[in-house]
This record gives sequence, structure tokens and C-alpha cells, in this order.
Amino acid sequence: HDGDEDESPNKKLDTGEGHSQKVATHYNTLEERGLMERNKSRIVHMRNFNNWLKSVLIGEILDMVRRDRRDMCVLDLGCGKGGDLLKWRKGRISRLVCADIAGVSVEQCQQRYTDMKKRSHPNDHIFTAEFITADCSKDLLSEKLSDPELQFDVCSCQFVYHYSFESQQQADTMLRNACERLRPGGFFIGTTPDAYELVKRLEQSDSNSFGNDVYRVTFQKKGEYPLFGCQYGFNLEGVVDVPEFLVYFPLFVEMAKKYNMRLVYKKTFHQFFQEKVKDERNKSLMQRMQALEQYPAEDRGRLVCDGVGEYEHAESRAQRTGASLPLGTLSKSEWEATSIYLVFVFEKTA
Ligand code: SAM
Repeated sequence: HDGDEDESPNKKLDTGEGHSQKVATHYNTLEERGLMERNKSRIVHMRNFNNWLKSVLIGEILDMVRRDRRDMCVLDLGCGKGGDLLKWRKGRISRLVCADIAGVSVEQCQQRYTDMKKRSHPNDHIFTAEFITADCSKDLLSEKLSDPELQFDVCSCQFVYHYSFESQQQADTMLRNACERLRPGGFFIGTTPDAYELVKRLEQSDSNSFGNDVYRVTFQKKGEYPLFGCQYGFNLEGVVDVPEFLVYFPLFVEMAKKYNMRLVYKKTFHQFFQEKVKDERNKSLMQRMQALEQYPAEDRGRLVCDGVGEYEHAESRAQRTGASLPLGTLSKSEWEATSIYLVFVFEKTA
């Protein structure tokens, strides 16, 4: 897909160095498929699982912040189409800043926010929000904020940080954007592929590639893993490869110290799941999310919104109809795909 940049209307923004534009083009051209289509997908359980995991992580961090603060302010770095908007609403934050490199995604995110506000009850105090299109591995967000003095309690970077590991400078700029406007005691949370897991699977494979019927990872070379710019192609459900980069976690932890960030924890998705599912509330959230999967696609399509809201919807319906909540599980292929990832939480010390 070398021709991508040439055809892009944003050509002027492309400096010619690196892959940012390719990533933007990829996400900009991804079709918004709607809830109905998404539920028919082979990776519906995996999407649900990832959503559950993000909900638990976000809920846990906001609970911690809430002990000290009433008005919580969040930066969603690499917000995409706004898949986490309802999680922020459920967490009762006051203000949200959404940033992403893909302009079309940012527009959809803003539209979703507008729709969410329209649909809400007048007594529901929905957070205020602003939307920024920017390459967060190159541009400084603080220069684009409507209030340059704004401070965040949380920066959430879900499935995004690995795009910045193309070069040291990009990884540092993304980190700076995530952390420089966090208040002391604030958190930087996220999910990213685990380099150990990727390299382990690559080394076990007899080619430059590994995967299954839902995902495929392809490296250019085996045996050499530079700290920055170690590129691989990630293909999910046959959608075109997006260039991603290995994040060597100990280096990430070292780099974060420059911004007074202390690692609170790093857990693989597997560890995180095993630990958190023991909590009854998390388990019941998972059951509610799984409940959605038992309805015919056209019914699910009628459930109005995406994210956690729709699961509540599904639950109330399950109660009304007396249906039992099934314990659908991820297929082996889906589990193999999602178990590549890890969760991280950093805290700002000063
Ligand atoms: N955080 C969202 C979620 O969890 O649903 C979206 C995740 S999606 C896998 C990755 C997102 O990262 C895309 O929306 C993409 O445009 C964004 N992204 C990639 N590189 C970026 C960069 N340099 N600056 C800002 N956003 C970037």
C-alpha cells in the first residue's frame, strides 16, 4: 500500500517520514459498520471482551480519582470513533478531551457525543467535550487545547501507544502529550501489544508471520528487534495491514520517568481478566455484555448506542423476557488474538 499517501487528500500533512499518514488513512477509511454488522462479526466476543476490560480498567481508575476530586477531567488519546464515550459517561467525569490522528474518526466521535447528549435526560449532567485532530506523536496537544491551563486527572490511551514507537522522538512526544498536563496523583492508563508475547510467537513460528483465522502478525525480519521502529503488520479479520511497532516495555517505563511517571502495574490481558473477574460487579458486567449476543441481529441493531449503555439495555430486556444470561466465551482464535495485549497504569508522582 505504498500508494496510500499519494492518494490522500491530507497529503500536505504528510512529512514523508514515517507511517503516521498510513495509520490515519487506514482508520479514516474503515467503514462505520453499525452495531448490527459489528455483532455479526466473527470477533464479536473479542470486541466484547476488550470492551469489558477497558470498562473495568476505566471504572477502577475513576473510582480512585473520585476519592480526591469531584470534577474529573480526562484525555482520551487516540479516541478513535469514541468507543469509550459511554464509559466516561458512566464514570461521571466532568470534562473530556478526545484526540486522534484520523480526522474522519474524530468527526464520528464528535457526532456520537452529540447524539449521546441529545438522547440523555435533562437531569443527566453529561460531561463537556472537545475534539482535536492531531498526530499525537508529532504535535503538542497543549498547544491545541482550548484552555492551555487545563489539567487532566486521567489520560487513557487504548490500543494506540504502539503506533508511536516508530522512533524515539515520536514515542517521547506521545508520552509527553499523555503526561505533561496530568496533575500530580493523576493516572496514565492504556492497553498495548506485549512485545514479549509477539516475539515469543514469532520465534516459535517457522516463518516471519504467525496468527490464525482472525488475526495475523507479519514481521519483516526475525531475530533482530531494534528498540524503536521495529515494525510489523497487524491484520485483523482480513482488513489491510496497519504498520505497528514493538513497544519494549522496560524502555517505556524508563522513558516515562522523564515525566515523573511511576509504573503502578503492568498486566497481561490474561492476568487482568483472572484477577478482575473474581469481583462480582465485574463478573456481572461481563454477563450483561454477553447477554447482548443472544439476541437476533436485527434486535440488537435497535439497541441505540454503542459501549456499556447497550449492555444495560440488553440486561433489562433479559430480565423482562426471563431469558437466562448465557456465558458465551471467546473462540480459541479470538483468545489467541486478544492475549497479545497488556494493560498498564502509571501514576504521576510530582
Ligand atoms: N482508543 C480507541 C478504542 O479503544 O476504541 C481506538 C483504538 S484504534 C485500535 C487506534 C487509534 O489510534 C486509531 O483511531 C488511530 O487513528 C489512532 N492513532 C494512531 N496513531 C496515532 C497518532 N500518532 N496520533 C493520534 N492517534 C493515533
